[in-house]
Amino acid sequence: MHTRYGFTKMNLAEFSPWLQQQRLGRTILKIQQHHTWNPNYSLFNGHNHFERQQAMKNHHVAHNGWQNIGQHFTIFPDGSILTGRSLETTPACIFGQNAGSICIESFGNFDQGGDVMRPEQRTAIIQVTALLCKKFNLPINEFSIIYHHWFDLATGERKESPVNSKSCPGSGFFGGNSIADCVNNFLPLISQALNNYHPGDSTNHVSKYVVVTASRLNIRKGPSTAFPPASDRAPIERGSIIRVYDENGDWLKISNSKSHWVFGRFTQEVVRASVNAQVLRVRNGPGTNFAILGTIPKGEEVFVLEESNAWCKIDFDDKWLSRNFLDFHL
Ligand SMILES: [Zn+2]
Repeated sequence: MHTRYGFTKMNLAEFSPWLQQQRLGRTILKIQQHHTWNPNYSLFNGHNHFERQQAMKNHHVAHNGWQNIGQHFTIFPDGSILTGRSLETTPACIFGQNAGSICIESFGNFDQGGDVMRPEQRTAIIQVTALLCKKFNLPINEFSIIYHHWFDLATGERKESPVNSKSCPGSGFFGGNSIADCVNNFLPLISQALNNYHPGDSTNHVSKYVVVTASRLNIRKGPSTAFPPASDRAPIERGSIIRVYDENGDWLKISNSKSHWVFGRFTQEVVRASVNAQVLRVRNGPGTNFAILGTIPKGEEVFVLEESNAWCKIDFDDKWLSRNFLDFHL
């Protein structure tokens, strides 16, 4: 394991224990798959992992105006894994899909006729995705593992046959980039890697969910400002969903296993729900007279911030769903 420019380079054997040590405040619901496209294989010489990662960061910061590199992980042709932005930070990778996501970029151009994926990289993509599913208790399906290609670039809407979308993670990525390709080709490999995996009940011991309303929320070792910040935890960003396990006055315990607390006045309670209609319209206000912003497919999880006349607001921005088509969980 090696760190340079703030990025850590690992092989698969190092990645697994490293991931086990990570503690996250934000609730992870999705793993995004991408390819870098440019840079492609011709720009990788076997030694320049850090330089390529730094070049991507520079592009994302200078050209896209982002605060950091967009992705959490880059998987290189030789199977090396480089960290990117902090896991506690929401990625900048799929418009409308970044909250609750972890973003993986596979280095190369995996459109048909592009780079031929090396076996080491193929193994690393499968294993890293599998380990992330296990770590965050995600079911192996097309809602927790998503491709950039499925989402409209302008609206963020998910579509079976997208028109205005990137080909990412590549029209040749594990046999294709459609939802069906993912279900038929990629997901079985993840299931196989996890052999007899059954996601545990991630809601075990959770008393409620909250969303972070402050721009950055510190995690402390106990339920008051007299306790020091938890040294192994980064602050949680605005908009992140947190699981709450216990409460003490205004303070919320956000880990089941550790004494990690946040100040509850910088959060707002939300209610977890999932969509039970085949396709549910998102509107910019609480009623059918408001404009349609997009749709959400059956099975997708949302967190409700506010209710008005049988309509539910699911974002700080005005995004509303009809309450009739939601199943409410704890
Ligand atoms: Zn992408």
